[in-house]
Amino acid sequence: MRIVIGYLYPSVMSQYGDLGNVITIVRRCQWRGIDADVRASELGDTIDPGETDLLLVGGGADTHQRLVCEDLLHVKGDEIRRAIEEGAAAFAVCAGYQLWGHSYCTASGDKLPGLGIFDAHTIHRAAQTGTAMDTIARAGSVRAVGNLVVQWGEQILVGFENHGGRTYLHSGARPLGKTLVGGGNNSRDGLEGCVYKNAIGTYLHGPAFPKNPCLADWLIQAALRRRYGDVELEPLDDTEEILAHDRATDKGLAKPRRWNRFLGQGVG
Ligand code: GLN
Repeated sequence: MRIVIGYLYPSVMSQYGDLGNVITIVRRCQWRGIDADVRASELGDTIDPGETDLLLVGGGADTHQRLVCEDLLHVKGDEIRRAIEEGAAAFAVCAGYQLWGHSYCTASGDKLPGLGIFDAHTIHRAAQTGTAMDTIARAGSVRAVGNLVVQWGEQILVGFENHGGRTYLHSGARPLGKTLVGGGNNSRDGLEGCVYKNAIGTYLHGPAFPKNPCLADWLIQAALRRRYGDVELEPLDDTEEILAHDRATDKGLAKPRRWNRFLGQGVG
């Protein structure tokens, strides 16, 4: 068996170790004798929606999102939408997640149109509050930064978040899970991420997959299902992954964020 992985914008959207998600998927496939073919797709490159089984996109700064937004509008947006509609799996983190919604309003108030795959929109907290991003303290004051712990069905997901954007799901949208620790989508409604068909959007950086092998396997299985129908994944020895997961989760749960009433969000 083989899967084709479309790694979107590696040079501009791989903040906070998101490349680690690609490496993890490739390894977990190889350990099961599944051939993983990674195809990098930079600005200006097209993708083949019929060929691509799993799309991965990471995080980036507002400046990078402006570049990517143009590319999504004029180069590969339609292909990505078609791939998702036809059942391809996807994992979009932070800036990638925001641009797969209807729109992302930057810190300076510019509204960037998104793909509309996730029925949601995002506004940077600085644009919401009119906070000038002129000092580190002010820039930091509008960001959700720190451990992020999420209840995903029976599973607990753990990672790291660092974003100014606040994402609001619209009535039809399905969240990935509930935020146990951290800001998640918007530090208010207790929800994290969004799921549409086999596409997952989330604020979980880290990278997410090494400490959450169940999430990586969910995406591998969804990607294989498109080509081979229902397949059972051979279980792997995840002793170290689970140890790392539990350590990070305990740390996150042990040190809940201190509430900052001025910011209207948890900090630290
Ligand atoms: N620039 C976006 C924000 O600040 C996304 C940040 C990221 O991908 N880490 O919310």
